Amino acid sequence: MKITRIEAFQVDLPLHEGNYSWSEGKSVDVFDSTVVIVHTDQGVTGCGEVCPLGPVYLPAYARGARSGIEELAPHLIGRDPRDLLVLNQLMDRQLKGHPYVKSAIDVACWDILGKSCGVPVATLLGGTYGDDVVLYRAISQRPAAEMAENVASYREQGYRRFQLKVGGNADEDIARIRAVREILQPTDKLIADANTGWLPHEAMRVCNAVRDLDVYIEQPCASYRECLSIRERTPLPFILDENIDSLDMLLRAAGDRAMDCVNLKISKLGGLTRARQARDLCISLGIAMTIEDTWGGDIVTAAIAHLAHSTPTELLFTSTDFNSYVTRSIADGAPQRVNGRMASSASPGLGVEPLTDVLGKPVYSVG
Ligand code: MG
Repeated sequence: MKITRIEAFQVDLPLHEGNYSWSEGKSVDVFDSTVVIVHTDQGVTGCGEVCPLGPVYLPAYARGARSGIEELAPHLIGRDPRDLLVLNQLMDRQLKGHPYVKSAIDVACWDILGKSCGVPVATLLGGTYGDDVVLYRAISQRPAAEMAENVASYREQGYRRFQLKVGGNADEDIARIRAVREILQPTDKLIADANTGWLPHEAMRVCNAVRDLDVYIEQPCASYRECLSIRERTPLPFILDENIDSLDMLLRAAGDRAMDCVNLKISKLGGLTRARQARDLCISLGIAMTIEDTWGGDIVTAAIAHLAHSTPTELLFTSTDFNSYVTRSIADGAPQRVNGRMASSASPGLGVEPLTDVLGKPVYSVG
């Protein structure tokens, strides 16, 4: 089997809530997502999607994804899409770094591999655990009372895990965490995700002020060194996200006992091939994981579901259904949330069919 053509599509994903806001006043109104379709000489096609959280979250941006995919595509024509390690090494040789650029291509090739074997991607990733996976809801940064109201409303929809977007003014963040924890049940899980937004002294103030509560602290400061200094001085369970962008950083943080859980995002690591490697290492190390991506629609959600559902239940801290945050569907067959949970598709590959009328004309077609 050979890759004959690679197409990239741009699609806008507006949000049900109007906008999504997180640390330091950062906000996105409409997500700019890129869908890749890989064609083969045997008529099998695969799809992938990459959607950065705007240009100021990680070193990634939507036009960069499309530009990088266009740069890589000519090198992939004629290659066997099922040879995933070979393809990933080739991509790494042709374009240094830029893992998010490689993610959608890698996911599309997993889709092809699954379809050509007649099995879901989750089977190729190790097989599914249980019927479904537990989801969290990200709560956009707003005044404390409004965030508590939003949590209550999402709780009614079945969610039991909530990730509060803090990383703003420390006093307001303390109020946000307290207001939300108060309306939750003891078995509900609450994560205060500062998304690198606090200076160390602010992070310490918040951690000290909420240390009587059952709350996880996620990525309080910008650098790994700063986060480690907070980790060493707070008893609260600790999650790292933005700093863990490679296997090297994962190993370093595990060696330093710098986290209790880690947030693995598929595009942050460069696709399912690399994310699976990190996931399997975390399984061996006993580090529980949030398995998700930076953002996305139906295709990203499907890829997340396959990786999350093939992760041992006790090590899957939580996962995300991004397609329920956005108003536009871009593929049929994607996982749909039921009572705060979702399952990966049992159909071959990712189990999704891109909606060509929504995608429109490709931005470019190579091959
Ligand atoms: Mg995070």
